[in-house]
Amino acid sequence: MNGFDDLLAANRQFASTFNLGGFDGVAKAGVGLVTCMDSRIDPLRMLGLFHGDAKMFRNPGGRVTEAALEALVLSVHMLNVDRILVMPHTKCAMASRSEAEMHEILNEKTGQDTTWQPIHVIKDQVAALRQDVMKVRSHPLIPHSVSVGGFLYDVDTGLLEQHA
Ligand SMILES: [Zn+2]
Repeated sequence: MNGFDDLLAANRQFASTFNLGGFDGVAKAGVGLVTCMDSRIDPLRMLGLFHGDAKMFRNPGGRVTEAALEALVLSVHMLNVDRILVMPHTKCAMASRSEAEMHEILNEKTGQDTTWQPIHVIKDQVAALRQDVMKVRSHPLIPHSVSVGGFLYDVDTGLLEQHA
């Protein structure tokens, strides 16, 4: 297997001073987070959190999908989560192009018809965020005692702005 050597070397370095073994898997700070897979997002550090503090679910756009809801239900009932942040971000590729434009790029890159692969682009990020927060708040298995907020992360300033 090629292409992983640097990562495995870094992992051995990491493990050489690793002292977090035996820790359970609950979210110590009670935080559940749904955010984008974007590499500009450093979820723990941006919220002042540390190893073990949060349950995180990431996908393109930071959307509350069926899989995200599954993760949140488990997080609330089995993993100590009592506050949930839904957190898309500015300059997100998923909110920058239409699905047709995304498929055009993929068709070009792959040399094949990619329209069978759904690409869930976002037309209006704030509207989508409010809908996503409602999906969590109104989920029958997520109790009202859980705080749910929708925040847009600005990748240029590092600040969060609450929209829901
Ligand atoms: Zn994104």
